[in-house]
Amino acid sequence: MLQSKLFYKTTKNKTAGVDSISHDLLIRAGYVDQLMAGVYSFLPLGFMVLKNIEHIIRRNMETIGGQELLLPVLQPKENWVKTGRWDTLGILFKVKGNSDKEYAMGPTHEEVVSPLAKKNIFSYKDLPLQVFQIQTKFRDELRVKSGILRTREFLMKDLYSFHTNQEDLDKYYEITAKIYEKIFKEVGIGKITYRTLASGGSFSKYSDEFQTITEAGEDIVYVCVNCGVAINKEIKEENAQCPKCQGVQFEEKKAVEVGNIFKLGTKYSVPFDLKFSDRDGQDKPVIMGCYGIGLGRLMGAIVEASHDERGIIWPKTVAPFLVHLIQLDTTPKIKKVAQKLYTDLQRQGVTVLYDERENKAVGEKFADADLLGMPYRIVVSERTLKENSVELKERASEKAKLVKIQEVIKKLNAR
Ligand SMILES: [Zn+2]
Repeated sequence: MLQSKLFYKTTKNKTAGVDSISHDLLIRAGYVDQLMAGVYSFLPLGFMVLKNIEHIIRRNMETIGGQELLLPVLQPKENWVKTGRWDTLGILFKVKGNSDKEYAMGPTHEEVVSPLAKKNIFSYKDLPLQVFQIQTKFRDELRVKSGILRTREFLMKDLYSFHTNQEDLDKYYEITAKIYEKIFKEVGIGKITYRTLASGGSFSKYSDEFQTITEAGEDIVYVCVNCGVAINKEIKEENAQCPKCQGVQFEEKKAVEVGNIFKLGTKYSVPFDLKFSDRDGQDKPVIMGCYGIGLGRLMGAIVEASHDERGIIWPKTVAPFLVHLIQLDTTPKIKKVAQKLYTDLQRQGVTVLYDERENKAVGEKFADADLLGMPYRIVVSERTLKENSVELKERASEKAKLVKIQEVIKKLNAR
């Protein structure tokens, strides 16, 4: 991508009215734009990050048997009345159609996936089954804050699992917890993301939240000093002791919830009469689980975890481009070398943002590169060409080094 053509603008000044670092950086670097409180546009750079995150999540969901589908946003009121949530779920967006008929804008999809499963599950032979989607959801939050960490419209992955019995659900639940840990590691927040015990509702003692430690977080988690298990506020109020080691000393940390997994049991299969016929011919309710990850929120959490005073530092797995190639002077020779490198890198499958802008000062180009946060910066200038080299620098490191032009692709591939 040529930087002169890229649809974005960077701003040096701190964004007014922001309450988190990720909010400030993502707006200043032109990744997102706020339309109104809690509703954001993702510009090309931001959308690239979102798609990279989506790809990682999708690949991992498929490895645990998830089949992707797409459920509707607009949902009939009757289904929500049936589960009692039309009146009890305060964040439910309700819309009225022209004929005064009322609808819900899906904040979650149990009310759609359960009746859908009923049309496809009849016998124990149809189970277990796992389906997921990556789709926009809506929550009518009273307060929204911290940029893309808490919004009214957001992209979410939700997986639903269906089982014949509790043991099978328990087993799959643990498989999902493990794959969640793998996903958070892959996107670069593994070390600061805790599987956190939360209360489980009527069907199990606990559910699990995945909480990423950050000052911008609205949640509080308590990490056991002795064994490292994390519990949320609700659990802390119910238990003075650590549920794992009975320790009583906890470290209090601010966090943002990037995912959660929940054993639903028969909470939704009963109202929708979702049953299967077991080996003995008896009808039994299907046992369900649900598993969510917020994609935009995850993107915000990555920035919270990975930045410095100059800008974002994207992990390689989610960065919009692996390399930011900067052409510093505009002599024909420099242009020629930079253009050739741009083509060669792309031919090797390396994604490159090429700063070929001619009317920008050196300082401005470097400041933009730091703010945008691509993992590698390659500079072509008079000085580097004297050594038949380019300058290679990792965004996360202060040190730059000269690398021979013909070796730079090999250097990147070797990482
Ligand atoms: Zn403990």
